[in-house]
Amino acid sequence: DAFGKKEINAKKKKEKKLCRFCDILKYEKPILVFSKGEKIKSPPYNNWTTCVVANKYPAFSPSLKMNHRKIGPYRVMDGVGFHELVVTRDHRQTIAEMNISQIKEIIDAYQERYLDLSNEPLVNYVSIFHNQGEKAGATVAHPHSQIIAIPTFDSDIQSSINGSKRYLKKYGQCPHCTMIKYDQKDQKRVVFENKEFLVTCPFVSRVAFEVRIYPKVHRGYFERIKNGSKWQLAEAFKKTFKALDLALNHPDYNFFLHTAPCDGQNYDHYHWNWQIIPHTQIWAGFELGTEIEISTITPEAAAEFLRHKINFKL
Ligand SMILES: [Zn+2]
Ligand SMILES: [Zn+2]
Repeated sequence: DAFGKKEINAKKKKEKKLCRFCDILKYEKPILVFSKGEKIKSPPYNNWTTCVVANKYPAFSPSLKMNHRKIGPYRVMDGVGFHELVVTRDHRQTIAEMNISQIKEIIDAYQERYLDLSNEPLVNYVSIFHNQGEKAGATVAHPHSQIIAIPTFDSDIQSSINGSKRYLKKYGQCPHCTMIKYDQKDQKRVVFENKEFLVTCPFVSRVAFEVRIYPKVHRGYFERIKNGSKWQLAEAFKKTFKALDLALNHPDYNFFLHTAPCDGQNYDHYHWNWQIIPHTQIWAGFELGTEIEISTITPEAAAEFLRHKINFKL
């Protein structure tokens, strides 16, 4: 374990010399800047700890109107939307190694950008995700999250939302609430729990050691999270990522937010949550997004393993 960590640090030291993100505000105009939990509204930004900038190579770029065209049998749309990066200062420090107030600052940035972007007229969906490490598809080693705000959302999201609605109608509560109650009673898949959040290895896991973080009370819209809940969520993040680091020796991972669209319709039936997909050695070279589901370890065994790692001091 210690050896793995040493190797990682040596590698990171080498990368740091060439890293543009370490001093990103020398090159990019910030959209949002924090310094130790406080918002910095004007320069100098020397002491920034978390900042948001527009992505230099955007998957989408802002445009005033969607340009729908027909080409042959296809309806095409120009890339419309926003692509932003949430960058934390330290080149080596992953979420597992941050303290709770640093993680809270990231959550503050997520929420503030979500609220702003969701108010853009053409934006109907905001996606927040984080790729850590090469196996997770991160092209830049410096820890950062990405926010994409777009006019449409794909059929997977739509069918998950519709599924929640049908389930609620049939059973009187959303599928996640049902699962949360079952997991709380059963305890076998619970990794961590605080006043407001439940961390579990889901019954139906896509990969070994998949983790979900849920608000225990039914909530449809992540962006409405209150300040006190953000501290609770930050603690859940800290516990989760630290346990994964200890259990799987600093795995690469992806995590993403599942939340209601912001297209003006009512999605109160939805239950927001964070999904974390670690890339264990077993998964090296395996493409996420394939439909193949293999779990080499049951969610119950994974949760137990993580629980044992979680009793560290914060
Ligand atoms: Zn860096
Ligand atoms: Zn629910």
